Amino acid sequence: MSNTSALDLQALYPYLLANSVREDSLLQRLQDETARDPLARMQIAPEQGQFMELIARLIGARRIIEIGTFTGYSSICLARALPDDGQLLCCDIDEHWTGIAQRYWEEAGLSHRIHLRLAPALDTLDALLRDGQHKSFDLVFIDADKENYDAYYERSLQLLGPGGLIIFDNMLWSGQVADESVQDIDTVALRALNLKLKGDQRVDISLLPMADGITLARKR
Ligand code: CA
Repeated sequence: MSNTSALDLQALYPYLLANSVREDSLLQRLQDETARDPLARMQIAPEQGQFMELIARLIGARRIIEIGTFTGYSSICLARALPDDGQLLCCDIDEHWTGIAQRYWEEAGLSHRIHLRLAPALDTLDALLRDGQHKSFDLVFIDADKENYDAYYERSLQLLGPGGLIIFDNMLWSGQVADESVQDIDTVALRALNLKLKGDQRVDISLLPMADGITLARKR
C-alpha cells in the first residue's frame, strides 16, 4: 500500500478543512440559511466549492453550465472564477431554492454573469444544441438527478470544446456505489456511469475522494 492510500482521510479531514477552507461570510451565511432546509445535504461542501473555483480559474473558463443549482453555493464559486464578461448558465427546476440563490447572486455582485433557466435541464441543453452552440462552453458542473447524469454527460460532451471539463458531483454516493446490495435507481445509474467513464476514450478522468466523490472528465 502506498503512503497516500494509508492516510486515514476521515481522521485528517478536520485538519484539511481547518487549514485550507477560506469560505467567506457570504458563503457562510448561505450555508447557514440552507442548513435549515430539510434537503440541506444537497448543498456542496465548502472545500468542494473552493476546489471548483480553483479548477475554473485554472482552465480559464469563460462559459460554464451548471446542472442543478439548488440554493446557489456552487454557482457563486463558479461565477467568481469567471472574467467579468464570462457567463454561467444555471439549470434548475425549483423556483423556491433558486430564489434563495438569486438573492445571494445579487448580494455577491454576480447577477450579471449568471443566467437561470427554470426548466428540465435536458430541455435546456437540447435547446442549446438546436441553437448550434456546440463546442462553445468550457466547463459543465453536473449535480442534479442522478438517473439523468449519463444523458447530461452526452450533451455536455457536445457543448464543450476540446479540453473542456465536466465536473460530476456525488460519484461515490455515500459509498453505495461500492455496495452491490444497493440497487435503487440512483445508485445503479451512478455505478454504471463510473464504469462507462473508466472505459470512455473520449475523456481523461480522475475520481477524487473529496466530499461525496467528484469526477473530473476532460474532453479530449
Ligand atoms: Ca450534490
